[in-house]
Amino acid sequence: MSEQSKTASAERSAVDRLRAACLLNGQTWWVWNAITGEASFSPEWCAFVGLEEESAYGFDAWIARVHPDDLDHVRRVFGAAELARTARFDVRHRMCLADGSTVWVHTRAIVCASGTGDAAEWMVLQTELPLWYGENDGTTGAELHDSVIGLPSRGLFLEHLSHTLLKYSRASGVSFAVIMVDLDRFALINSSLGQSAGDLLLRTVATRIVDVLRPADIVARIGSDEFGLLVEDLNDGSDALRVARRISETFSEAVNLDGQEVFVSSCIGVALGATHYQEANEVMRDAGTALKQAKKNGENAIVLFDQAMYQQAVSRLSVENDLHRGIERNELVLHYQPIISMNDRSLHGLEALVRWNHPERGHLSPAAFLPVAELSDLIRMLGRKVLEMTCEQIALWVEAGHADRLPPISVNISGRQFVHADFVDEVEAVFRRTNVDPSRVAFEVTEGVLMDNCDLVASILARLKRMGVHIMLDDFGTGYSSLSYLQKLPIDSLKIDRCFVRQMEEDQGSAEIIRSVVSLAHNLSLVVVAEGVETPAQESRLRDLGCDFAQGFLFARPAPSEEIEVWLTPTVAAKAF
Ligand code: C2E
Ligand code: MG
Ligand code: MG
Repeated sequence: MSEQSKTASAERSAVDRLRAACLLNGQTWWVWNAITGEASFSPEWCAFVGLEEESAYGFDAWIARVHPDDLDHVRRVFGAAELARTARFDVRHRMCLADGSTVWVHTRAIVCASGTGDAAEWMVLQTELPLWYGENDGTTGAELHDSVIGLPSRGLFLEHLSHTLLKYSRASGVSFAVIMVDLDRFALINSSLGQSAGDLLLRTVATRIVDVLRPADIVARIGSDEFGLLVEDLNDGSDALRVARRISETFSEAVNLDGQEVFVSSCIGVALGATHYQEANEVMRDAGTALKQAKKNGENAIVLFDQAMYQQAVSRLSVENDLHRGIERNELVLHYQPIISMNDRSLHGLEALVRWNHPERGHLSPAAFLPVAELSDLIRMLGRKVLEMTCEQIALWVEAGHADRLPPISVNISGRQFVHADFVDEVEAVFRRTNVDPSRVAFEVTEGVLMDNCDLVASILARLKRMGVHIMLDDFGTGYSSLSYLQKLPIDSLKIDRCFVRQMEEDQGSAEIIRSVVSLAHNLSLVVVAEGVETPAQESRLRDLGCDFAQGFLFARPAPSEEIEVWLTPTVAAKAF
């Protein structure tokens, strides 16, 4: 036998063994080369989805079968695995089969060949999930084995957890959590209603838990009446608490066990992923400690392992709830800060800055509540409100006869708000409702927003520009910049961050940065606003460096609308200086 035919035969027998192993495990498989885009599907996979082997070409053959509602998520998990070079991924999603039916599958992949160190050839395994998976009641699971409810075992859970620890080993903050859920009274139900009722109960509970989680989260049965959950992509501890609370709430509904309604409750222990964990067992130990404490606390208790983190998470949740109510009760107020011309100190713009008139805590500056709002969709609610209030104020000023002197008003837009799919439509609706011309408004966005989602941002900016909104780049110099976007994106002005202005007098470097930014901006036909000008010396230096406009306490502090009116009234404005 030639060397070549020996190699070919060894490859064939390796493939045969792989097929046999997959068949035994009830899995189908395919292989995908991320560089060439080629994919080869096993005959079993083709048979599973109902495709002729000849018609299964490339990655698209698989992606076309992923349920449209799960597609974004699957693509994200795949993309994240490639980017993070984690070399494996794991996702549950639905597939649409050729006969029109939908099934849940567990897709797992690992890079098995990578010449350059990049994720290149992916070995993908798919397992069909039990029929009851994704259903609201557990009654269709009768065909499942009593002892196996179809979830991963404790061993597999630990394997996933080890992988997750590795993935986040250099992450700062909390990015994942292990949540242990223990059923109260399970033993009692098992002994009084029988084991099959007990199994049905477990399947129902498992389904409810799975429903609360995202498809990429892992649920395992880690004890007779204990479930282990691994949830990832958290912003902080309060996200984990929220998941735990939702799970606990699913127990408020009775479980129907063959006609008999029973109520079960849960105790939940949570351990937050942190960098000091080296091994999966350590996280399990802490989640277990928290669970023990929860059992001591009584029915429906949720205990977070780390008390310091717990306090932080609880206080975040309470600020969130409080702010939500505050926005609804119109407790937000806007102050406006003038932006003036460096030539003659005439009014060039106003920046709307939000404050919270808290009924108990008094007047709060953005630093006290914006960071919390930024972590959730609350920032969108807040942002919408600020834009509405700004437009309403513009309408009032126009009505009061200030139309000619009223300059564009800048509104700060947070990243999360800006890239949301509904953002531009919502903005348009506000302009329409308040009957305000969009050219009376400028949006301030920061560099990070532009850099993180370049294509998406370009299309949003293009739509805003078509409407007539001005675009300003806020806090310029504090983020990481690729100067090429300044040219590509339709930006009108740069606001130089106040840290450069502050340092300018002691540090020649800062002055040089300002000089370069001004010259770059002017070459690109952008105007430059200096932020945080506090002294006449800073003002004259910035004028020498070529800045066009300035904003700062030297000229005016942010003030309520009534106080700003002096700037809009010709005779009084002249007296402002
Ligand atoms: P920013 O957009 O850079 O706003 C300028 C901040 O600098 C304001 O702080 C303003 O009061 C302060 N400032 C202005 N001149 C001077 C000065 O001469 N010296 C000093 N030391 N500070 C000066 P503020 O109002 O506390 O706002 C802080 C940040 O909060 C804003 O920074 C902005 O990023 C954010 N923010 C404020 N309102 C909103 C809003 O409605 N939505 C969003 N997403 N963010 C907002
Ligand atoms: Mg700003
Ligand atoms: Mg700024």
